[in-house]
Amino acid sequence: MKIKMIAANWKMNTDLHQAQELAENINNGVNKGMLPENVNVVLGVPYTHLYMLSSVFNLDKVSLAAQNCAAYEKGAYTGEVSAEMIKSTGAKYVILGHSERRTYFNETDDIIAKKIDICIKNDLKPIFCCGETLEERESGQYKEVIKNQVKNALFHIDKKDILNIVIAYEPVWAIGTGLTATPEQAQEIHEYIRQLIAEAYNNETANSMPILYGGSCNPTNAESLFAQKDINGGLIGGASLKHDDFFKIMNSF
Ligand code: PEP
Repeated sequence: MKIKMIAANWKMNTDLHQAQELAENINNGVNKGMLPENVNVVLGVPYTHLYMLSSVFNLDKVSLAAQNCAAYEKGAYTGEVSAEMIKSTGAKYVILGHSERRTYFNETDDIIAKKIDICIKNDLKPIFCCGETLEERESGQYKEVIKNQVKNALFHIDKKDILNIVIAYEPVWAIGTGLTATPEQAQEIHEYIRQLIAEAYNNETANSMPILYGGSCNPTNAESLFAQKDINGGLIGGASLKHDDFFKIMNSF
């Protein structure tokens, strides 16, 4: 059966009150059976909300993710939040390598690889983001860009641990822009990523890893994207902040 997963990325939105309201609306929907049984739902929320939200949710049905973590274990790194701290809140996932972190905070493939290793060590599942810029797509080099991002961040991981990684293909030109990759454009890259994993590991591993699409995914376009063979669901930014849109997306498989 196809793996199905929806992850929200709330980014730097919602104060504690708004987060509680949104979480309660989602939780009520989940309790009313609005969440399909076989869809794994993850909410990527600000650090400050993790502990509070883990008490709102029945964590069997909805899991929480941090949106980043430190590249260091612990110590004198003022302002940083470690994987161990995230784990202690009840979160299960960490979004890593998001294009906003690559662009605004100069995160390189090396830094992302370190963060992935620290998450694995702390029993947190990385949601690893990759994707090309518009310039890279238009120059025809997008597959090469994605291959390097995936290889540099993931291929040092051993066979057992790679199964705990979720990959999100997020074309940078589609994030927050209202432009979406067509289902065919997205499928081409998802299939390519799966093939890279099969070559580096094996087919069984490649087929066991969720590969999500992210980039202006919404209730209108989700169904045609999720219908693609290699698309296991979505990483949803803007549309995850409205609970009714988010439920529509969760029900788009
Ligand atoms: C994201 O930030 O991961 C994202 C996909 O954002 P949006 O859905 O708003 O494009």
